Amino acid sequence: MTPEQPKRRIALFGSTGSIGTQALEVIAANPDKFSAEILTAHSNEELLIEQALKFQPNIVVIGDEKKYEKVKKELSSTDVKVFAGEKALEETAAIDCYDLMLAGIVGYAGLRPTLKAISIGKPVALANKETLVVAGDIVMRKAVENRVPVIPVDSEHSAIFQCLVGETRNKIEKVILTASGGPFLGRKPNYLVNVKREHALQHPNWSMGAKITIDSATLMNKGLEMIEAKWLFNLKPEQIQVLVHPQSIIHSMVQFEDGSIKAQMGLPDMKLPIQYALAFPKRIPNQFPRYDFKKVSTLTFEEPDIRTFRNLALAIEALNKGGNLPSIMNAANEIAVYAFLRNRINFLDMTDVIEKTMQKISYIERPTLEEYYESDGEARTFAADMIKL
Ligand code: NAD
Ligand code: MG
Repeated sequence: MTPEQPKRRIALFGSTGSIGTQALEVIAANPDKFSAEILTAHSNEELLIEQALKFQPNIVVIGDEKKYEKVKKELSSTDVKVFAGEKALEETAAIDCYDLMLAGIVGYAGLRPTLKAISIGKPVALANKETLVVAGDIVMRKAVENRVPVIPVDSEHSAIFQCLVGETRNKIEKVILTASGGPFLGRKPNYLVNVKREHALQHPNWSMGAKITIDSATLMNKGLEMIEAKWLFNLKPEQIQVLVHPQSIIHSMVQFEDGSIKAQMGLPDMKLPIQYALAFPKRIPNQFPRYDFKKVSTLTFEEPDIRTFRNLALAIEALNKGGNLPSIMNAANEIAVYAFLRNRINFLDMTDVIEKTMQKISYIERPTLEEYYESDGEARTFAADMIKL
């Protein structure tokens, strides 16, 4: 992107979230390189209005239809088009007015708009890992068919992606996904049974949305990321290793056939992988704080404790078995996290909900997209009934 090149127009799906607001910081810091073309929010209309007034996008979408009138009224003095409702998300993704989608919606809700962007040939910067957990084979196949790049935003996958630049002809022996271990690293079940929502929401290294913060505390996040890595980098389950690295300086590593290991490092700050994905293949300068080897001079590594953090063991089972099992697990996890965040179940109950749902819902080895949608719905209903939501 030289000064003569046009700005990259970004469709920011999930603009009011942790990823979305950080992406807008990157866009605001580089007004000659990026513009916000589409902004979408689920229910935070106040922030969406504020963002629209500042960034003057072409389109905003508010998921909650009850809030349409308010958003419309507040933006009536601008040229911003306002749409509302779940369907409008997909329809807006299909409009040929942007250059890159940043998929920053949380959970299963991100799948359809992302698939739509890919189907009309738009590159995707993917934060929404659940998209690949639910239907990774179909999403990546469509991306290849349409020659659409899927650029990871998740810090571990961005690290792997960066390690692979210039290595297209070289085989990967394995990837090593690093994990901070979350706030309960080293704890045992007798401690975990009593942890409360507020405690689980305190992540030691990263500030993120509520759902991924709970997933980090249970280690489900790392399980989702193993499945995400499988699809992004076309790996076999045995090529994906998880290593706990509490300092979160090495964001992940790739080991090649000659035994050489490449790592990508930096301070834990999501703005870096977001900026990398938005500007890819260029690196652009910024003022983010730099990692200083003298300040954090000890980097440590340990095995994850999957006996205690059983969600990771369940995710490894889903990764190995494939089919619709990851989508069933993902749906049950979304329900379980929702219930935990509302103090309806305790920390360890989340694992039981996921495990029982995985046992109950019928396994399909090669599901169609429709069957993935159905498995998601069945798993949600079963999990919600189990905890009487
Ligand atoms: P968040 O909860 O902070 O924000 C979620 C965004 O999605 C909001 O803009 C919200 O309005 C929108 N949204 C929520 N439910 C929706 C629905 N049903 N329909 C439409 N829009 C909906 O979440 P986040 O932490 O920004 O995470 C977003 C995604 O990025 C997740 O998949 C997460 O796993 C992934 N991710 C996040 C981080 C991080 O640092 N936050 C890091 C790596 C990956
Ligand atoms: Mg991550």
